[in-house]
Amino acid sequence: MMEKSSNDLECRFLDLEENLKRIREKIAEAAVRSGRTPEEITLLAATKTVPVEVINHGIEIGLDHIGENRVQELCDKYDYLHKEQTDVQFIGHLQTNKVKYLIGKVSMIQSVDSVKLAKEISRLCTQNGSDMQVLIEVNIGKEANKSGILPEKMPELVEEISVFPGIQVRGLMAIPPANADSTEMDRYFSKMSDYFIDMKAKKIDNVTMDYLSMGMSADYAQAILQGANMVRVGSALFGARQY
Ligand SMILES: *Cc1c(COP(=O)(O)O)cnc(C)c1O
Repeated sequence: MMEKSSNDLECRFLDLEENLKRIREKIAEAAVRSGRTPEEITLLAATKTVPVEVINHGIEIGLDHIGENRVQELCDKYDYLHKEQTDVQFIGHLQTNKVKYLIGKVSMIQSVDSVKLAKEISRLCTQNGSDMQVLIEVNIGKEANKSGILPEKMPELVEEISVFPGIQVRGLMAIPPANADSTEMDRYFSKMSDYFIDMKAKKIDNVTMDYLSMGMSADYAQAILQGANMVRVGSALFGARQY
């Protein structure tokens, strides 16, 4: 990790504190407006490119769920994170041959979109004697070259992997098309909510539809209004990413 001057870090800490306060207020407002309590919404901090010192300050001031989206970056940061006080998840695209680096490190993988990937998670968890919670990533915009299972194929995938030992399906995740306008976004979020409710009603053994993970910095309040109960927020918390 690059050394940061203490002044620079101090500024980032203060910005983070203000951002977190504002975001919690917006989450609470959207929760109440959609008939829920603020506690029913999980804020997961998307921490890609954010230095460990800043993430740890975030954990100190209450970020109890964080998500990385690249395996290498997660592994680089892992030993230095204050993990006792937060839940570490994986939210990015995952190749089957990299699953091994996540076992025993993260509590949940939000990006399961194939039987092959689920099978590998199950195999390694069984070997390791541990469990992995997973969300099924849905390609809600049906975009070519985007990860996620097509919506019409999602129920079958859930049924098929529900019997795999060592993994537990806990819900759905989506990243709608980046260029969608607000009206289109509403439509994607609302479709995801419908799928989520339908899947919940199926009451599949070993599947608990607890989490609908959608909404990022630009649209988390909108996602909550449409039914999200987990939002993944990066730049609105930590500032614009510097690659
Ligand atoms: C980066 C990232 C986010 C957060 O994006 P922001 O627009 O910075 O809030 C959410 N989900 C995933 C999967 C990401 O990779």
